[in-house]
Amino acid sequence: MLQPFASHPNQSRGRRYAEPAATDRDEFQRDRDRIVHSTSFRRLVYKTQVFLNHEGDLFRTRLTHSLEVAQLARSMARTLGLNEDLVEAIALAHDLGHTPFGHAGQDALDESLKRHRPDSSGFEHNLQSLRVVDELEQRYPAYDGLNLSFEAREGVLKHCSARNAQRLLDAEPGGVAQRFIDRRQPSLEAQLCDLADQVAYNAHDIDDGVRAGLLLPEQLDEVPLVAQCRAAALRQHPRLAGRRLLFDTIRRMLSAQVADVVAATSALVAEHRPDSADAARRLPPLVRFSEPMAQHSAHLKRFLRTNLYRHAQVTDTTDRARQVIRDLFEAYCADPIQMPPEHAQRPRTQRGVADYIAGMTDRFALREHDRLTGRRLFA
Ligand code: MG
Repeated sequence: MLQPFASHPNQSRGRRYAEPAATDRDEFQRDRDRIVHSTSFRRLVYKTQVFLNHEGDLFRTRLTHSLEVAQLARSMARTLGLNEDLVEAIALAHDLGHTPFGHAGQDALDESLKRHRPDSSGFEHNLQSLRVVDELEQRYPAYDGLNLSFEAREGVLKHCSARNAQRLLDAEPGGVAQRFIDRRQPSLEAQLCDLADQVAYNAHDIDDGVRAGLLLPEQLDEVPLVAQCRAAALRQHPRLAGRRLLFDTIRRMLSAQVADVVAATSALVAEHRPDSADAARRLPPLVRFSEPMAQHSAHLKRFLRTNLYRHAQVTDTTDRARQVIRDLFEAYCADPIQMPPEHAQRPRTQRGVADYIAGMTDRFALREHDRLTGRRLFA
């Protein structure tokens, strides 16, 4: 049951290349299916979320992270009367542009591009996710990219600098970058995926951090939301301990945040009464946490930044990962024929190198680094 403010597939702003409608699926289901069948989607399984892919089999990867985001976003969409298929498509595609080695890889690629060409727009993973679905996937006879609907592409381009928005608009006047100039919101489905992303990583990074031994369960009590959920778990199950206590705590954290988003969003929707998806785009962001939960979430993020993302063991591996990306960039720019012909023959060498590196899985990047430099930065 879609609400009037949801994205309705028969009111889509369409695709860049017109195609006949599918008979068996609506337009957003078709978007989702194209994403699942893409090459970039399969690569997510070997890409870092926080822990490098080879550090352990049970840590989240970009793929399992994306599936968790899709699950959270779909269940909230269903309750709110938003379009589940569109949120699923956006959630599954939102990280397609991530480099190997997570944010460290992105930062290194950005620096490398700007060092070679100071006028370069640099590297930004949201923009790269759009490039993947618009250009870099090559599997259809008539066009490059996946030719997704406007609404799916709008959700994929989550953030964008004004400068990069202008570059996108030069190629696509009035397109998905227009809202960054007009300072408007994306669809409610896109807003929901953005929040589901945060809910997902805040929860699973705690789980992975404890699994890795970098976060101690006692330490988590510093975070009020975790402490409250842990206490609630123990009230109901006084003898709960270890992993099961952690899982029950995280499960309660997820439920509390999902319930909060649904309540806060429903209240805002009732207040503003948007009568269409476009009316919702013209309003302030409607999908959000309540103020107390926003503070909980900010606290949790700060805790993870200080204790996990900046943990010496994590930064040591990300420093080496950065070196891998820098070395690969230099090696391919100096000798483009080290890349497959479709990349080596691109007219803009540096962007071709960045696209090639960004598409790599962690382990492929390490193999290439060994081959090109003869050095091993990871055992
Ligand atoms: Mg994400």
